[in-house]
Amino acid sequence: MRKKIIAANWKMYKTIKDAENFLREFLSLSNNYTEKEVVICPPFTSLFLVREYIKDTPYKLGAQNLFWEKEGAYTGEISPIMLRDLGCEYVIIGHSERRQYFGEDDEIVNKKLKSAFDNGLIPILCIGEKWEEREKGKTNDIIIKQINGALEGLDKENVKKLVIAYEPVWAIGTGHSARGEDANEVASLIREIIEKKYSGVVAQEIRIQYGGSVNPKNISEFLSQPEIDGALVGGASLNPQTFWEIVRI
Ligand code: PEP
Repeated sequence: MRKKIIAANWKMYKTIKDAENFLREFLSLSNNYTEKEVVICPPFTSLFLVREYIKDTPYKLGAQNLFWEKEGAYTGEISPIMLRDLGCEYVIIGHSERRQYFGEDDEIVNKKLKSAFDNGLIPILCIGEKWEEREKGKTNDIIIKQINGALEGLDKENVKKLVIAYEPVWAIGTGHSARGEDANEVASLIREIIEKKYSGVVAQEIRIQYGGSVNPKNISEFLSQPEIDGALVGGASLNPQTFWEIVRI
């Protein structure tokens, strides 16, 4: 049985004070909830604070990005060792905003995934098609290409721990979520690709999230799909009540 996983991606939002206000409220509302795995991915500047708040709770800490080297002269970058040191267990890799604004391609995503696994972090790998690609019927091709590129050279022991977030780019931050059945179809395709590359066991073990304008009203449409094991939540994770509603539902 795959445990459901709901992750909050705060993107570049919240000062330390904002993060503290969120945590006070979320922790009191959620009362050490364990039915689903809950991961909070704040900006780097709040990782230490969030770790302090959640260290005696069931909730996990995640980062939104990493650089693949362990250390070195890479001004402005953050290494997987540093993230582990801060208590991170998860790291988001290949988010469409990183692909769009920071030029991250499948090769970079692959290096980051390898580095995350080598250093004991579980990657949440984001993949998804743009609207033009969906319109042209290219969704499956894009998903196949992104997975093959991201997983190049990775072994099955690592891949079975992976979380894949299917996030159609056109649904992120737009208020237009995908339909549950369409997201489930892509999640099935993801399992087929993993089965071909690795094995049926690995394909059944990996967890697949849906991401893109998830909110308390539509979360059950996704979580009721057989191939979807959770959600990566952006905008709606910034408010503690809304995020708690999503987790609870
Ligand atoms: C995201 O940032 O991964 C995301 C899905 O954002 P939103 O929920 O705001 O669409």
